[in-house]
Amino acid sequence: MTTQSVSSDIPDALASADVRPKPTRHHQIVIVGGGAGGATAAAHLCRKLRDPDVAVIEPSETHDYQPLWTLVGGGVVNKEKTRCHEIDVLPKKASWIRQAVTSFEPDENAVTLADGSRVGYDYLIVAVGIKLNWEQVKGLSVEQLGHDGVCSNYGYDTCEGTWRTLREFQGGTAVFTMPPPPIKCAGAPQKIMYLADDHFRKRGVRDRSRVIYAAGTPGIFSVKEFAATLNKVIERKGIETMFKQRLVEIVPNERRAIFQSTEGEELTEIKYDMIHITPPQGPPDVVRNSPLANEAGWVKVDKATLQSPDYPNVFSLGDASSLPTSKTGAAVRKEAPVLVHNLMATMNGRPSSDFKTYDGYASCPLVTGYGKLVLAEFDYDLKPKPSFPFDTTKERWSMYQLKRYGLPMLYWRGMCKGRL
Ligand SMILES: Cc1cc2nc3c(=O)[nH]c(=O)nc-3n(C[C@H](O)[C@H](O)[C@H](O)COP(=O)(O)OP(=O)(O)OC[C@H]3O[C@@H](n4cnc5c(N)ncnc54)[C@H](O)[C@@H]3O)c2cc1C
Repeated sequence: MTTQSVSSDIPDALASADVRPKPTRHHQIVIVGGGAGGATAAAHLCRKLRDPDVAVIEPSETHDYQPLWTLVGGGVVNKEKTRCHEIDVLPKKASWIRQAVTSFEPDENAVTLADGSRVGYDYLIVAVGIKLNWEQVKGLSVEQLGHDGVCSNYGYDTCEGTWRTLREFQGGTAVFTMPPPPIKCAGAPQKIMYLADDHFRKRGVRDRSRVIYAAGTPGIFSVKEFAATLNKVIERKGIETMFKQRLVEIVPNERRAIFQSTEGEELTEIKYDMIHITPPQGPPDVVRNSPLANEAGWVKVDKATLQSPDYPNVFSLGDASSLPTSKTGAAVRKEAPVLVHNLMATMNGRPSSDFKTYDGYASCPLVTGYGKLVLAEFDYDLKPKPSFPFDTTKERWSMYQLKRYGLPMLYWRGMCKGRL
């Protein structure tokens, strides 16, 4: 049985060797990334395996529950409530290697770490999340977020700045952007806009304001049943929409935002008083530059079994995977048990007919105001998959309470502990 440990015993002289050094340690199962996907997969494995030899490679000392950042930006929750120590999230029976992976070598069943050392494995799970490409918006610097009317909920260090920006807004033009997908939580760019609209009304500044939603998508939401509700919300709130638009530049000292049509070269400029930016996103370089990647740069896995078609001992889940579902923690909750079942079937030499399959379930709790939420749950075919026996396409107070109180508790105590 392994004990939880933090690794630092790495021979650094090997880092500069011309040939790759032999792995200095080996684990039966190596999980790269200790976020929602990695921690949940580790927990399921450690519950199921009698004598688990599982190592999680994760450089960060902290673990964030990102879905609550929406409510931090809306002034409902303190950001500290969204973070805990990684060591308290990972299962006690797993080893924790506190480093980043810098390359995958699946032909040698090994990964290389930031200090140049290598770890070998029998089975690999990749869960490194998605990369935020702030630099793709010209003129934008991350340090600026939370100042001069520019903000973003897409980061632990920046989400509080959104609340400050909303409170400082004295009327004028408020812009909320969404890049072309894929992004994590495709609903987050509009959730904060609905909270902002509510907040502006409460403060009496809404009647002297324009609220604009500028998105890279062709419509408000991909699932038509929920889009119908959201279009009514937009109408009720008097929000202006600009679809098929990508933010390409901001000029902060002049408060100008420049958008480009996703269908051509045409540029549109908006003078803003505040702007909430959802950054362009893509696969992490460590995945994109590896043999594990598909053409788009995501970890290539079968969309039903989560197994790599090229390396049968490799699996992936979460935002970094090629799974064509909505990149959410809710999707991870359903992916993890399927992945673990199929990995254990592979370990035991069972045929793929014994595999479980994932149907693309994802969920997006669409906050439409303080105390209102539409719980969108759907599958690969964009068909609603409600967990509750009532019409979930309606805005509900009860679903808002679920997001505010129920889901965080389920995440920390249920999902990350392998109980869900
Ligand atoms: C503002 C916002 C709102 C959201 N709202 C919701 C919501 O309401 N509902 C919902 O279900 N989801 C929501 N999400 C999305 C959800 O948080 C993600 O989809 C989920 O965290 C994905 O899990 P993951 O494990 O793939 O990635 P992450 O949880 O991001 O974890 C990736 C981990 O990999 C580690 N890592 C990265 N690179 C390396 C490397 N080279 N080596 C080792 N480790 C590495 C990182 O440090 C990180 O710990 C939201 C996200 C945001 C930003």
